[in-house]
Amino acid sequence: MSAATNTTDNDGPYLRTRFQIGAVSLQRVVEAEMPILRPDEVYPDCTPEMLAANLHWLEPRFYDRTKNQLILGFQGFLIRSEGKNILVDTCVGDCKRRARVEFDNKRWNWLDRLREAGVSPEEIHIVVCTHFHVDHVGWNTQLQDGRWVPTFPNARYLFTREEWDHWQSEAARPGRERSGDYIVDSVEPVVAAGLVDFVPMDKRLTKDVALIPAPGHTPGMVMVDIQSEGKRAIVVGDLLHTLLQVRYPDWSTRFCADADHSRRTRKAFLEQFAGTGVLVLPAHFLSPTAGTIERDGYAYRFDYVD
Ligand SMILES: [Zn+2]
Repeated sequence: MSAATNTTDNDGPYLRTRFQIGAVSLQRVVEAEMPILRPDEVYPDCTPEMLAANLHWLEPRFYDRTKNQLILGFQGFLIRSEGKNILVDTCVGDCKRRARVEFDNKRWNWLDRLREAGVSPEEIHIVVCTHFHVDHVGWNTQLQDGRWVPTFPNARYLFTREEWDHWQSEAARPGRERSGDYIVDSVEPVVAAGLVDFVPMDKRLTKDVALIPAPGHTPGMVMVDIQSEGKRAIVVGDLLHTLLQVRYPDWSTRFCADADHSRRTRKAFLEQFAGTGVLVLPAHFLSPTAGTIERDGYAYRFDYVD
């Protein structure tokens, strides 16, 4: 199966946001790209020696030496299929009080970029959060008269029971406390508003678009699979955070709920899709985000689309 073709946006390769996969269109809606995490903060397995061995390709695009931080993107994906506007991941959000200074009380005005993509919040039919980490649920809600209300009033928000149950459990308490309790302001209000459908982790959304289970990083994480007219693309959420995990597939992150399960899921995906030409879009990969997985020695390589 061949990779999706790109549409030319006249905005340069690093800024390309639109992709056509057969009858389905996919548009990245970027909230921010910034240095944010020390390599050893996100990857416990990353020694100073290993970092040094990779600086020649990490710098300057993927790593900020002065801050000793990896540069990550934050974005949602607007998928149009069979007349449905499907939004995958809702970023960090604006005006949210967060423990991490890079996320705290921001005004990125991401909704303006969604409108520039041609869709108003009222026109979103389906919202999918690949998982409930703080940077994937933010715009589920917005502040209105001092209350957090659903941003997409006409949408069904599709949650998996596995993810919901995890974040309501005792095991998730440290993660909630670490971030500032975003579940309260960005997840629970849409449930209370009656806009949530609990769906299986392999739920089909349209003829060409379906969820794929990817448990490990969190218990209920899903990817979004697009297959149309012989083309295929997969929005993989946090299966991969940076290119370092393609080169070192064993590296799970400190944020993985189950590091071993996360590793198994990631390695199985890389093995399955290496060399297939399937377009892969990890949530935090810098623009243009999309690329293919290729075998490279004992590991893999990510070839960005041109
Ligand atoms: Zn994330």
